Amino acid sequence: MSRPAASDAPLPPASRPYHIAIVGAGMAGTTCARTLVQAGFRVSVFEQAAHAGGRMDHIDTSKGSFDSGVQFFTVRDPRFAQALDVTVPGLCRPWSATTIVVLDESGKKIARPNNQEPHWVACPGMGDLVRNWAAPLAQAGMLHTGTEVLAMERDRLQPAQWQLRVAGPEGSPSVFAGFDAVVLAIPAPAATQLLRSSAVQSPLLLPLSEVQMAPCWTLMLSYPQAMQPGMTTLGPNWNVASSTHHRIAWLARESSKPGRSLLERWTVHASADWSQKHLNDSPARVLAKLHKAFSEVTGIRVQPGHMDVRLWPHARTTAPLGQPFAWDSQEQFGICGDWCVGMRVEDAFLSGLELALAIAEQADHAH
Ligand SMILES: Cc1cc2nc3c(=O)[nH]c(=O)nc-3n(C[C@H](O)[C@H](O)[C@H](O)COP(=O)(O)OP(=O)(O)OC[C@H]3O[C@@H](n4cnc5c(N)ncnc54)[C@H](O)[C@@H]3O)c2cc1C
Repeated sequence: MSRPAASDAPLPPASRPYHIAIVGAGMAGTTCARTLVQAGFRVSVFEQAAHAGGRMDHIDTSKGSFDSGVQFFTVRDPRFAQALDVTVPGLCRPWSATTIVVLDESGKKIARPNNQEPHWVACPGMGDLVRNWAAPLAQAGMLHTGTEVLAMERDRLQPAQWQLRVAGPEGSPSVFAGFDAVVLAIPAPAATQLLRSSAVQSPLLLPLSEVQMAPCWTLMLSYPQAMQPGMTTLGPNWNVASSTHHRIAWLARESSKPGRSLLERWTVHASADWSQKHLNDSPARVLAKLHKAFSEVTGIRVQPGHMDVRLWPHARTTAPLGQPFAWDSQEQFGICGDWCVGMRVEDAFLSGLELALAIAEQADHAH
């Protein structure tokens, strides 16, 4: 197959009479879609959010932006390195987060491990990588954002094909039909729920339902008052820390990342255990508790100019599928995502890529 097209290059026209629906435009779904288009397939991607990116996202506020999900990513596979170099040269930059401080419950340093592996971030926000990759799909009319897939079912008139029931941008129900195959590039618990509520029978259901993912509450804080002359930061002299505090697992000074504004901002991830226990709490309650813990750990007691929380119900994999993707050749549907083998951005990229290559190989053998 040809090298990946630059993110703004027009996509090649479809040359194979095979239309594939992809549910989810995170890293895995977007990679899968781009690879299938380059192999000559026709694709339609359905994304419930307003834009592509999934857990690789940033939130823009009037008090600065926050990488609310992924903090940084590592690049170990040459195919991921090549895709980044060829399609978005210069968009990702190393972040000096190789020294991650480890803090105890009271915020005291207990270790300062040094990891030499480069930590990459997309600029100006983490979401820009997948959004850039998805842009040619959107321009070609292949990406339907604000469209939640509610069910997948056999087309009654053409039983060899799939149709999707969706809730469109205004919540309006509609049906997209005529798909030869469906790819679910969504977190495993969501895929299990979608397949069960659609009454799809497949041997993939059992291993899929055994995948486990933990939630994560994210706290975002902004301190415009730190921009006074002679002062650009508040509190600790470190930028990134993992913490053993019972509420908090991770803290990062957003303004220390390359390509961001200098406005003092912090992103804080609650621990998986605490997030699970407080899954159904109100955002206001979670915000108050996490802000208190943040003050204990960092010593920053001034009131932030902006505070918000966000819940990721399926943030990180705790029990993976154990293979890079799965494909049901009988039913012509597949599953991909980081949770197939791990919990990293690169795992999601490789899962989407390898599923697309397997679908292309199957089509080559069929002809
Ligand atoms: C808080 C947090 C911190 C993290 N930190 C790091 C880190 O530092 N480094 C790292 O490498 N990784 C990190 N990760 C993991 C990383 O985010 C994932 O590995 C990667 O983004 C997963 O991509 P994906 O495409 O598999 O899934 P997702 O990004 O979850 O994409 C799935 C997409 O499907 C959409 N969707 C779901 N259901 C439907 C439906 N029914 N209809 C239509 N669309 C649907 C979702 O909106 C989403 O856009 C972190 C994740 C979180 C949440």
